[in-house]
Amino acid sequence: MELRPLGRTGVDVPAIGQGTWELDAHDRRTAVAALRRGVDLGLGHIDTAEMYGDGTVEEIIGEAIRGRRDQVYLVSKVLPRNATTAGVATACARSLRRLRTGHLDCYLLHWPGSHPLEGTIAGFERLRAEGKIRAWGLSNFDVDELEAAAAIAGAESIACNQVLYHLAERTIEHEVLPWCEARGVAVVGYSPFGSGRFPAPSSRGGRVLAEIAATHGASPRQVALRFLLRRPSLFAIPKAGRIPHVEDNAAAGALALSATELARIDAAFPRGRQRRGVPML
Ligand code: NAP
Repeated sequence: MELRPLGRTGVDVPAIGQGTWELDAHDRRTAVAALRRGVDLGLGHIDTAEMYGDGTVEEIIGEAIRGRRDQVYLVSKVLPRNATTAGVATACARSLRRLRTGHLDCYLLHWPGSHPLEGTIAGFERLRAEGKIRAWGLSNFDVDELEAAAAIAGAESIACNQVLYHLAERTIEHEVLPWCEARGVAVVGYSPFGSGRFPAPSSRGGRVLAEIAATHGASPRQVALRFLLRRPSLFAIPKAGRIPHVEDNAAAGALALSATELARIDAAFPRGRQRRGVPML
C-alpha cells in the first residue's frame, strides 16, 4: 500500500485506510477479521471515534489490533461536547482503554462545537506532551474555522482536517483543500463511497467508472478511490465490514489512472459550485 506523509507529522501513513463507523452493526468476529485482513493488506490507517457505537467500535478495534499495534496508524475523535481541556483528557483516557493502547497516533475534534477551541487545543497539546497522542487534527472544519484554529496553535500544529469527500460531493475542492495544501495540513476524505450511496452502474457516471475499471481489470470503487487520492495531500478511509470489500479496497493501492481517465471522471462528476461551510454527513 502506498504511504504518504500525513501533513507535517513526519509519519508516512497508508493513503487508503479503514473507516469504522457502524462497524458494530456487523457480527463482532466478522468485524475483527475484516480489520485484521485490512491491516495485513496494508490498510493500517484506522479511523474511529468515541461516538461510534458509543465506544463499542473502539473495543472491536482494540481486539483487532492486539499484537499488531505497531502496524497501525490509529486515529480517534473526541465529541465536541467533551472538548474542554479536562474533557479531552478524560475522553482520551476512555478511548485508550477501549482500544487497549497507550497512545493514539492522531486525535481529532469530531466537528466544531460550542466549547472554546483554545481549551480543546490546550487539551490536545497536554496529551501530546504526555505521550498519549502523537498528533492532533480537526474534522468538518471549514476555512473560517481552520483559520481560527491556526490563529491559536499555528497551522503547522494541525495534522489533518477530516472532511466529507466523494465523487458526488466535492465541495472541499473549492476552499478547504487549497487552504490545507498551502499549509501542509493533510486532508482525510471520509465516506469515499458516499456512505453506501455509490453511483449506480446504470448512471452516466457509473458507466464511466465501469469503463475505466474494465480497462484495468479493476472495480469501479477502486477507480473512485484513485480519483479521490489523485493529489498527494489526500487520504481516503473507506469502511468495509466484509473481507471481500476490504480486499477490493486494498487492491486500489496498485491502480494508476492516466490523466485522461482522471479528466473523464472529473467531467462525469463535476465538483459543483462553491458553497459556504463544509458539508457534513
Ligand atoms: P463509505 O466508506 O463511503 O461506505 C461504506 C459502505 O460501502 C459500506 O456499506 C460498505 O459495505 C461499502 N463498501 C466498502 N467497500 C466496498 C467495496 N469494495 N465494494 C462494495 N461495497 C463496499 O462510508 P462511511 O462509513 O460513511 O465513511 C467511511 C469512514 O469515514 C467512516 O466509517 C468513518 O470512519 C469516517 N467518517 C467520518 C465522519 C466525520 O464526521 N469525521 C463522518 C462519516 C464517516 P460493508 O461495510 O458491508 O463491507
